[in-house]
Amino acid sequence: STATRSSLKIGLIPADGIGKEVIPAAQKAIEALGSDIPKPEFVPLLAGFEYFTRHGEALPEETVSALKECDCALFGAVSSPSRRVTGYSSPIVALRKILDLYANIRPVISVAANPADKPDVDLVVVRENTECLYVKQETITTTENGREARATRLITERASRRIGKMAFELALDRPRKHVTIIHKSNVLSITDGLFRETVRAVPQLPEVNGRFDGITIAEQLVDSAVYRLFREPQIYDVMVAPNLYGDIISDAAAALVGSLGLVPSINAGDDFVMGEPVHGSAPDIAGQGIANPIASIRSAALMLRRLGYAKGADRLDKAVDEVIREGRVLTPDLGGHAKTTEVLDEILKRI
Ligand code: ATP
Ligand code: MG
Repeated sequence: STATRSSLKIGLIPADGIGKEVIPAAQKAIEALGSDIPKPEFVPLLAGFEYFTRHGEALPEETVSALKECDCALFGAVSSPSRRVTGYSSPIVALRKILDLYANIRPVISVAANPADKPDVDLVVVRENTECLYVKQETITTTENGREARATRLITERASRRIGKMAFELALDRPRKHVTIIHKSNVLSITDGLFRETVRAVPQLPEVNGRFDGITIAEQLVDSAVYRLFREPQIYDVMVAPNLYGDIISDAAAALVGSLGLVPSINAGDDFVMGEPVHGSAPDIAGQGIANPIASIRSAALMLRRLGYAKGADRLDKAVDEVIREGRVLTPDLGGHAKTTEVLDEILKRI
């Protein structure tokens, strides 16, 4: 990715629930960066479950084609229907596939009380985004013993290798340069065995040319990884995992830092990046104006960083850290009484 654009075309897909409250906040934060980034041009786009209930499709073709013209995008959240709805499938899952956003990168960082101190938790979960059980090949049959359901779990060498490369690439830019491979190959020796073996072999690939030689590698069974994550999160730097484990571990890690409302992610491929808060549509608080906008603002920062705009990204992150550290204006998920817009205003002042 280059940092030489004259303008930055950013697709905005708020989608459902609090996505409609937090994505506009992220937009304002990006606008406040002024000349630290190319002039942003925002492209509002429709998708989501609500859109589906009105139009019979969750991801209109115009949204997909408009996105392909954008440099990057921010996605809010989609509500998941509680029961299976005929004809509905998640637009975010579809977008990851269409745009080949094969990595979901989720940094989880606690904010130390003193800016000079190291945070207790400073890790990044690198989750494979295209396969594993999420290929959604499920079948159900009726046998003499009742119904029997099966799911296919797909692990390929290609996807494991590229997610492995992404993880090592990220580790190179981090002070500790440490990668932990998460798997369960003691039980799933074929699928998780392939993932583990392929990721482990990445530093020896001829095309990486020894660039990853300085990175230390550990591995951990997913169950013990979750245990240790809660006991001693400091041991982790980059955690790389197949889709399902990565999904679970990153939500668990979010609990360590106080709220899902703080944790950002990007969906990244080789040609496109889409920021997305880790949280969902939060139907319990949607429409009340109290959603925490920080996860979305941090997602915007991650997106900008990946595009090469570190200075703009740093300004967003620093403003957010200050507001958290000060602890005066916070939304209810962090024990405060502030509204989304009040937290946003505090952040904008600091940007
Ligand atoms: P979905 O099916 O869309 O994922 P959900 O019911 O799982 O919906 P989440 O959005 O995943 O809801 O949120 C889980 C919990 O965390 C909810 O209680 C929600 O209110 C809270 N939460 C999530 N995001 C935020 C946020 N940005 N600000 C405040 N609270 C949040
Ligand atoms: Mg959820």
